[in-house]
Amino acid sequence: MVHSIRFGGKVSEPALVLFDTIPGGAGQVRRAIEDEATLRKVLTAAWENLNNCTCGGEQGNASCYGCLKNYSNQFCHEQLERGGKVLEFFTLMGIGKQ
Ligand SMILES: [Zn+2]
Repeated sequence: MVHSIRFGGKVSEPALVLFDTIPGGAGQVRRAIEDEATLRKVLTAAWENLNNCTCGGEQGNASCYGCLKNYSNQFCHEQLERGGKVLEFFTLMGIGKQ
């Protein structure tokens, strides 16, 4: 189950895509997007995971199986970086270091 939240409502703009890894979904994403406090907790946990990982050094110009990589996204592992634009996204959302 995939739910996305588009910023600005334009297709060309960045989107946040949340999905349950369980086939058919377990309802966790729906619960998160229906309650802002829950969504903020989910995003904060994601930020902590990315921010506390050490792959790619201080710049975070890499990713690992502890932060972003998994079996399902192996087709784009070379493009995944936990730092830079990814962490900027959380800053824009008011999450993490300000
Ligand atoms: Zn990592």
